[in-house]
Parts: sequence; structure tokens; C-alpha cells
Amino acid sequence: MDAVDPSPLRRFVVAKRSITSIFDQLLDFVKDGSAFVDEAWRGDDPGQVAVEDQSLELQSCATKLWTIREVLVRRHMKVAFFGRTSNGKSTVINAMLRERVLPSGIGHTTNCFLRVEGTDGDEAYLTTEASNDRRSVTTVNQLAHALHMDPTLDSGSLVKVMWPKSRCALLRDDLVLMDSPGTDVTLELDSWIDKFCLDADVFVLVGNAESTLMNTEKLFFHKVSERISKPNIFILHNRWDASVSEPEYIEEVRKQHLDRCVSFLAEELKVVGLDEAPGRIFFVSAKEVLSSRMQRAQGMPETGGALAEGFHERLREFQMFERTFEEFISQSAVKTKFEQHTVRAWQITEAIKAVMDAINIASADRKICCLEEREDQRDRLDFVRGQINHLTDNVKERIKTLTEDVSAKVSTALSDQIRSLPVLVEEFRADFNPTQETLELYKTKLLQHVEERLVGCLSHRCSVGVLRDIREAQRQMIDSVRPLLSPFVHEQLSAPSASFDLSYELGLVAQCADFQENIEFQFSLGWTALVSRFIGASNAKRALSGPDPRLQVCPSRPDALFYDLFVYFSSSPSLSLQETSTFKDQMVVYIATGLVSITSRASMTVLVIGGVVWRSVGWRLLSVSLSLYGLLYLYERLTWTDSSRERALKHQFVDHVARRLRAVVHVAGSACSQQVHKELSSTFGRLTQRVDLSEAELEGNIRQLSFRIQRLENIQRRSKAFRNRATELETQLEVFSVQYLQGL
Ligand code: GDP
Repeated sequence: MDAVDPSPLRRFVVAKRSITSIFDQLLDFVKDGSAFVDEAWRGDDPGQVAVEDQSLELQSCATKLWTIREVLVRRHMKVAFFGRTSNGKSTVINAMLRERVLPSGIGHTTNCFLRVEGTDGDEAYLTTEASNDRRSVTTVNQLAHALHMDPTLDSGSLVKVMWPKSRCALLRDDLVLMDSPGTDVTLELDSWIDKFCLDADVFVLVGNAESTLMNTEKLFFHKVSERISKPNIFILHNRWDASVSEPEYIEEVRKQHLDRCVSFLAEELKVVGLDEAPGRIFFVSAKEVLSSRMQRAQGMPETGGALAEGFHERLREFQMFERTFEEFISQSAVKTKFEQHTVRAWQITEAIKAVMDAINIASADRKICCLEEREDQRDRLDFVRGQINHLTDNVKERIKTLTEDVSAKVSTALSDQIRSLPVLVEEFRADFNPTQETLELYKTKLLQHVEERLVGCLSHRCSVGVLRDIREAQRQMIDSVRPLLSPFVHEQLSAPSASFDLSYELGLVAQCADFQENIEFQFSLGWTALVSRFIGASNAKRALSGPDPRLQVCPSRPDALFYDLFVYFSSSPSLSLQETSTFKDQMVVYIATGLVSITSRASMTVLVIGGVVWRSVGWRLLSVSLSLYGLLYLYERLTWTDSSRERALKHQFVDHVARRLRAVVHVAGSACSQQVHKELSSTFGRLTQRVDLSEAELEGNIRQLSFRIQRLENIQRRSKAFRNRATELETQLEVFSVQYLQGL
């Protein structure tokens, strides 16, 4: 009975699947890791946390892994059969495959290596080194014919026989069986070994039970063990069924063969110990095994044919060989085919871990720098904001003080100028002529002159000091703001503008447009003049000439009261009843006050004296007085020239202008202070704009740093994740190693 346990060859298949899966994961991991490192290296951040070498290293790891994976996928267990021609190599292979796959008994019709391996398809075919064309071979005879007839097949060339896996369990487990031409037919043992044997996991020497090991066979294995350290060799003594013909010598012959082979393996080749060597030597009949297996496969009893005596024993020995061989080749192949790659994978994960660690540390360092920098920038922003608030209050206060000062200064200066108005007017020179046109021109020029002089004097008195104060205030503002500005904005900061000048808008022309001079001749003792003298010029004017005057009694002149009242009363026929009544009331009060005044003062005395004088002097005095009065009139009339008129006009002009200017003294002061306010406010406004720019720059920097910190944290997190993934893959490699590689 054949063994029913699962084939030990499965171990290799499972191990291969396992290591390939680890490599697939590694490849994905390295691909992701490479993209990550590349990103960290190429990022537009000025502080790189990865370098080109790291990126290149990851790429090289990916390439290596890919190459290894490709090799792994093609990995299989390989057993190579050697021995002289006709020892039964092909028959042994067929027996193992349980089917007549390779032609046998045809001698050395071909000197090719026949490599049998599984194919997933249903059709068997062969390919040669010279041509990859698939040649269909459905029967073994076809194969024999194909090999025999192919003129392109040189000695020692390779023919691949692809056999459907579905037809052969052994081929399903990634086993490749290699039949050689026969060690006795070639002198090219060295090139054979180099070409076909270096990757063989097990060598099976098929000997002939009828003869001992030949020198060519021994020589071949000597050469193999020179190339490969401790090759795994099995020795099959085939055709053991033939020994049945001489049963009396069978044990002796077996012992002789065994001793020689043990000596060869353990002492000559030294590939195994003396105690292990017998376990590698088997006495079998491949022909019997093949035939019984094929019988069984066809549903016939395996002993159906004429089988020699001791068949079952030989069959068991063949099965034992198979089992031992399978266990051996599986373990050996797993180790030789995967161990190196596992170590390589380990080195790659270590290298990647080192790169990830370096990136992690670099990004952590960089993050600390960025955090510190951001903290600095935030502190600076807080400082700038605090300072600018404080500064704004100070500057407002300063501007207020300065503008009040300017207002007071200009008002005082203007008041002083009003007092010196007569001088300003007096020094004016222009043609004077009492005609209407000339007078208008004269007045216009006079106004211009006065305004120019006033403005000149104000400018002389105030501007220099005010401008100096303004410059000083501006300089202080700039000095205070300068430390709050960033270097870039700092460079744009210029000195205060020198274009500002204080302007004094008195608006005299508009204000004095209503000036009306009175340069008609007036006798100083005339009716009007006297009235004016007693009740004031304005009242007199209203009383004497106005059709709708209003009474405006000057209480300081009670002596003019009667006349004043009389004139007013007689010249105000249009007063309404109510007004008249009010007036009468006032009149009574005034009369009473006047009477009291007359009686209480010297008026009565004057009247008494006047009566006495009149009685003593009489008409003479009257005539003399009249003469004098006349002479005086004549004198004044004659001396009333243009210059007198000009003087009178200037006098009236001074009064008028002074009155108007007094009314606008404060307005002029505050106009100047407003100019100063505007200038200083705009200067400070410009400066705060600069500070705003600096603040915006700081905010931008903080935002950028926050973004950078976030990115670095992300890199740090990802590099750590990559490291963990590498460790996880290492754990898988460790598990693989423990499971498949250790303890062999
Ligand atoms: P190869 O040249 O080494 O591949 O040998 P083959 O497999 O072609 O076998 C040569 C001849 O030996 C064939 O006629 C086989 O039938 C025969 N043969 C192979 N194995 C045995 C065996 O175990 N017993 C006997 N009696 N004949 C065998």
C-alpha cells in the first residue's frame, strides 16, 4: 500500500506561499514607504526631513524585493538523477510519477537532460533550449520519437517536459525531476554540474544492483561536493528484483553494496555521518513499482503481473525511499531556497526602519524648532498688538495737547494782530479818490493788503514753532512704531513728509464785503455829530436816517435821553400800537431817570449860571458865538480834503475789520488746530497701516508654521506607522523562520 499521509512536499508549497505572501506585503509596504520618503524629501518645506539618499535607498529596496519575489515565485524543489545509462533512472522517475512519462529502455539515444515539471494546463508538451515552441507529446512514444528525431538537440542540452499537474500529484507540489544522460556517456561533468546541478536540492544516484559504483559515478559526486557544500545524496540500488535469482547471496550482496556506499558517502564524500549514511541507501526495483502502480491506476490488482519474489519488500523500500526523500527534499529546499531570502528581507526591513527612524527624529527636531519659532512669533504679535494700543492712546493724547496748543497760539497771535490793525492799515498806500470805482478798488486792495500782512505776521509768529512741534511729534511716532515693524516693512518706513505747512484762512474778503464807509463831510459841532457824540454813532445813524429804526438807548448817556427820545418818537410814525405802548412805558422810566439825573447833578447849576451869564452878557455873546461857530464850520469845510476822507475810511475800516476778526479769532485758531490734527492723524494712520502689515506678516508666518507643524506631525506619525509595519513584517519573518528554517 502506498502512503496516504499528506506529502511532506506540501511543507515546501505552504512555506513558499507563506514567504511569497510576506514578500507581497513587503513590496506593498516598500512601495508606500518609498512614496512617503519621496514626499518627505521633495516637499516644498524649507526644512527637509528626508534626503535623497533615503529616497534612493527605499527605491533600491523595492527593486531588490521585486527581484527576490520573482525568484521566489519560480522556486521549486529539484531532484537530479544520475547514474550510468540503463541503470533505470527514467524508470525510477516514472515510478515516482506513477506514470510512464519518460521513455525507458532505449539506451542513450539522447544525451539531453530531461526536466519534468508540472503545468497547469491539461496538455503535455516539451520545449527545448533552441526553441520555446511547445511540442505536444501525448504519449511517451511520441516523446521518445521527438527526442530521437530532433537534430537540434546537442549533447547536454536541456529539454523541458511539461506534464499536467492534474495527472501527477508529485508535480503539484512544485517538484522538478531531472533525468541526466548517464555519467558514462560524457566527459563534460563539470559543465553539467554548473548548468543543471547547482540549484538541485537532492541528488539521486541510480545504481545497478548487479554491479558496484563505477568510478565515473564517484567522480561526478566528488565534483558535485566540490561545488556544493554537503550535497544531499541518495543512492538507489535499482534492479534489486534481479537478485531474486540468487537468493542465497542476496543478503551478502546487499551488505557489500551497503558498506561500499556508506563508505563512499560518509568517508569519501563526507556528506553525512556513518550512522546516517545507511538511511540514504535503498535497494529497489523501479520497474516493479511502476508496473504495479500503473496496474493499480487502471483498477487492476497491483500484483496482477508476474512479480518476482520479495516484491512487497522492495515496494516498501521504494516507498520508504520516497517518504525519506520527500521529507528531506522539502526541509532542505525550504531552507536553501528561502533562508537567504528571509535574511535579505530582514535586512531590508531593518534598513527601512532605520530610514523611518531617521525621518521621525528629523521631523521631531524640526517640529520643535517650528514650535519655538511659532511661539516667538505669537509673543511678538501679542507684543505688537499691546504696544500699538498703548501707543494709540498716547498719540491721541499728544495730538490733543498739540492741537489745543496750536489753537491757543494762533488765537493769541490773531488777537495781538487785531490790536495792531491800525498800524497795518495806516501803512497801506494806494491812490485814493472818492469816486465810486476808485473807492471799490482801493478797498479791495486794502483788504488784500491787510489779509496778506495778517497772514504773514501769523505765519511768522506761529508756523515755525508749530511745524517744529509737528515734526518732533512725527519723529517720536516713527521712533515708537519702528520697533513694532517687521524688517521688511521696516525698510519701507520713510522720514516724515516735509510738505506740510500751516495755512491761515481768515476769509477777510468775504467777511468784510459788507463794509460801507462814510466819508461825507461832517461838521464836528453839527447836528449829526453832536447826536452821534451823545447817543453813539450807530444809534444816531438809526435815529437820524432810518425809516424803521429800533430804539437802542445807551444808559450810560442819560444826558442825551430827552433828545434821543424826542427824535426817536417823532421819526417813528410807523410803530405799531403795541410797540408804541412799550415805548411809552420805557419813556416814562427814562424821563423819571433823566429828571432824577438832572436834578441830582450839576445840570440845574448850569441852567442857573447860564441864566445869570445871559442876563449880563446878552446878545454880544450870542453874536460872537455864532461868528465863532461859523468860522469853525468854514475851517472844517475847507480842510475836508481827500486825505481826510482816506483817513476817515481807514479809521472806519479798522473798526469794521477788528470787529469782524474778533468774532472769528477762535474759529481761525481751531482751523489751524484741525490742520495739525489732520496732519498728525494721517501720519499716525500711515504708521498704523505699516504696523497692520507687520501684524499680517506675523499672522501669515504663524499660519505657515502651524501648517508646517501639522505636516511634520503627520510625517512623524506616518514614519512611526511605517516603522511599526516593518516590525510587524519582521514578526511574520520571525514566525516563518521559526516554523520553517530553525532546527533543521
Ligand atoms: P536509464 O537509461 O538509466 O534511464 O534506464 P532506463 O530507465 O531506460 O532502463 C533501462 C532498462 O532497464 C529498461 O529496459 C528498463 O525496463 C529496465 N529496468 C529499469 N528498472 C528495472 C528494474 O528495476 N528491474 C529490471 N528487471 N529492469 C529494469
